[in-house]
Amino acid sequence: MKSVIIIGNGPAGISAAIYLKRQNIDPLVIGKDLGALEGYESEIENYYGFAKPIYGKDLIRNGIEQARHLGIEVITDSVISVKPLEEGFHVITPHGQYETRVVLLATGKTRRTLHRTGFSKFKGKGISMCATCDGYFYRRKKVAIIGCGPYMMHELEYLKKISSDVTIFTDGNPLKYEVDIPVVTDKIIEFMGDEKLSAIKTENQTYPIDGAFIALGIPSSVEFASQLGVIIEKNNLKVDDNYMTNVPGLFAAGDVIGGKLQIVKAVYDGMNAADAIYQYLAHN
Ligand SMILES: Cc1cc2nc3c(=O)[nH]c(=O)nc-3n(C[C@H](O)[C@H](O)[C@H](O)COP(=O)(O)OP(=O)(O)OC[C@H]3O[C@@H](n4cnc5c(N)ncnc54)[C@H](O)[C@@H]3O)c2cc1C
Repeated sequence: MKSVIIIGNGPAGISAAIYLKRQNIDPLVIGKDLGALEGYESEIENYYGFAKPIYGKDLIRNGIEQARHLGIEVITDSVISVKPLEEGFHVITPHGQYETRVVLLATGKTRRTLHRTGFSKFKGKGISMCATCDGYFYRRKKVAIIGCGPYMMHELEYLKKISSDVTIFTDGNPLKYEVDIPVVTDKIIEFMGDEKLSAIKTENQTYPIDGAFIALGIPSSVEFASQLGVIIEKNNLKVDDNYMTNVPGLFAAGDVIGGKLQIVKAVYDGMNAADAIYQYLAHN
């Protein structure tokens, strides 16, 4: 079992990893991309220590390189699930499974959404972002799962247990898996209903649906946190003074906990979370 898995290789995650390493703890860092600054083509001018502005992506790459140089294992992968164990957590990616005593969520602020008519109106009223959290409300009902990758397949396993009427909507993407349930590959045009979601309209047909679960791409920290029962306030994970959520051993730092969404604050959070994790491991 690992001591610490850090999900996120941005400023918060890497800073925490560096501070943990200096306390003789070897964290595993898992990051899927360059985070908030992925695809950002402008320079960062307000971060300490750069006489000449640095491109955001380069700053993040430098951080990862610095961690690796210190002997920290940083792998590129997408975490699709975090599950509690009797002691610690089970972290699952499409390429591996890990057990760890502590998880630090440093996954930034990405929120998955679907820019289609009716999405905002029915979010929470038939549209859910988390099958494990809300699936039970739709037991034995007509359920849609929207997605086409490993995260969708993971959520599907749960939905199939609660309903025998599940349809996959890939929203125009190919499905790379063999499944034994209906698949609609048309693009989704609209989520329809009155007070609650009652149908999904695609480019070719309208399908009656009671509940739709969004499982596009990979889950955000808010979805991990919901699966684990973490308290979320205004879309931020709630942590105590020690950066621990209400789930023992599950810590969070950086943009994901709110406050100023800036690199300097994420780095500061990472350092503090590392100290708190060190203390937690020493006493548990
Ligand atoms: C366009 C733009 C410009 C900005 N400009 C500035 C600026 O000039 N100055 C400044 O101080 N701040 C700026 N910011 C804000 C700054 O980028 C963030 O505050 C900072 O990056 C937050 O760090 P973080 O580590 O919390 O999250 P992020 O940097 O977002 O990192 C999140 C990490 O989590 C990983 N991750 C997420 N989900 C998963 C998963 N399921 N599995 C594996 N890994 C996962 C990502 O791959 C990434 O490594 C800007 C932000 C944006 C969007």
